Amino acid sequence: MALYNKTAHELHELLQTKKISAAELTADIFSRIDEVENKIGAYLTLTRDKATVTVKAVDDKISRGEKIAPLEGIPCGIKDNICTKGIRTTCASKILENFIPPYDATAYAKLAAQNSIIVGKLNLDEFAMGGSTENSAFHTTHNPHDLERVPGGSSGGSAAAVAGGEAIFTLGSDTGGSIRQPASFCGVVGFKPTYGRVSRYGLVAFASSLDQIGPLTRDVTDCALVLNAICGHDDMDSTSTAAPVPDFTKSLVANVKGLKIGLPKEYFVKGIDAEVETAIRDVAKKFESLGAEIVELSLPHTDYAISTYYLIAPAEAATNLERYDGVSYGARVDGADVVEMMTNTRTEKFGAEVKRRIMIGNYALSAGYYDAYYLKALKVRTLIQKDFTDAFQNVDVILTPTTPNAAFKIGEMTSDPLKMYLQDICTVPVNIAGLPGVSVPCGVNKNNLPLGFQLIGKALDEATILQAAFTYEQSL
Ligand code: GLN
Repeated sequence: MALYNKTAHELHELLQTKKISAAELTADIFSRIDEVENKIGAYLTLTRDKATVTVKAVDDKISRGEKIAPLEGIPCGIKDNICTKGIRTTCASKILENFIPPYDATAYAKLAAQNSIIVGKLNLDEFAMGGSTENSAFHTTHNPHDLERVPGGSSGGSAAAVAGGEAIFTLGSDTGGSIRQPASFCGVVGFKPTYGRVSRYGLVAFASSLDQIGPLTRDVTDCALVLNAICGHDDMDSTSTAAPVPDFTKSLVANVKGLKIGLPKEYFVKGIDAEVETAIRDVAKKFESLGAEIVELSLPHTDYAISTYYLIAPAEAATNLERYDGVSYGARVDGADVVEMMTNTRTEKFGAEVKRRIMIGNYALSAGYYDAYYLKALKVRTLIQKDFTDAFQNVDVILTPTTPNAAFKIGEMTSDPLKMYLQDICTVPVNIAGLPGVSVPCGVNKNNLPLGFQLIGKALDEATILQAAFTYEQSL
């Protein structure tokens, strides 16, 4: 029986009832990886040896007749900007090519504590800067639905692994859409929790006021299970919230009767592909037929979200990436003196997009420009946040496309960074406002490429968007 394409909750049943063993399941995933990885390229590192140790622990437990945790024995992949003790964590950058973290990120540690089986570390755009994995210093990941196309990014490896049967679920990170956009391009579920819901301890920092870890899964039920595993306060991350975490499986109820769903008009304008627009309007009709109420609304500052994001994110990135100086972290390229050593290291080991962001960020932060760019962006950030606060006076959730178009061809946008940045129009406002958002598959376009819709929730109200997503999924 093929196991690699099943969901975690199906596999949990099979494991617990001894119909399969964790050894069989993991072997099936690795044989699938052996079969397709040379075409997809989702991984940067495979962790077969580590997997073997965990497999044995799980199978021993099952044979003793003990109950196993929901994700125990389930093979997963971890984005390679999430630290894993003793396992190379590169951020897809030459500067961290040989970096082996001395500790686990909290989100991964929580999965490991459940005996989830890590099969490897997943490709991304260098330091999570990008939307296609083409900025990886090592290789580009291919979309399993069409190998000539990108899987999206920056969590492209995380989405492609789930879609291609190379992991049952994965963790990604989302600073401006990096979980939701690849999920949409690869036809899987991708969830960005509220800022602070999941500890960022051990997530290599890109833009600290925006970064958040979340799951990519085959269905909404698995998404709830992974959220249950990774959410919660962490003393090691002062930005993680102390708010109590609900049991997200309680949201797995097919019911949207009376739910008010907002459709913001600014997300259906020029630049949105006609097929995407039709698909999202069909999703709205579907919700209506299931008993929800659709409310047209306006988020008036949406137009400024890209400029705001592409000032705040690079400014924070420029600061965060100062630590790669050839002394404390990562690679070093020697020079005649310390300044030359640092210059050589950063010149040789950072890729072009990372350098571009460092330059934009330092420019926006520099004396004389700070007020005009960075400070202005912070003010607009407040306006964008207020748009959502106002909108949520009248609706429970907001429905939008996840991306303006389906997966594009590899190489199609690399020559035009601005065009690539505009891809993020539907996702960045959610990070700017710190809200939860999920991308859910909604069919394919005429080229058979997956499409996704996005549901945005109130802060800390992951439960409602999860329930709406579940209701839609069950109606299919
Ligand atoms: N595509 C966006 C960027 O390039 C988002 C990246 C992310 O969420 N990590 O910054």
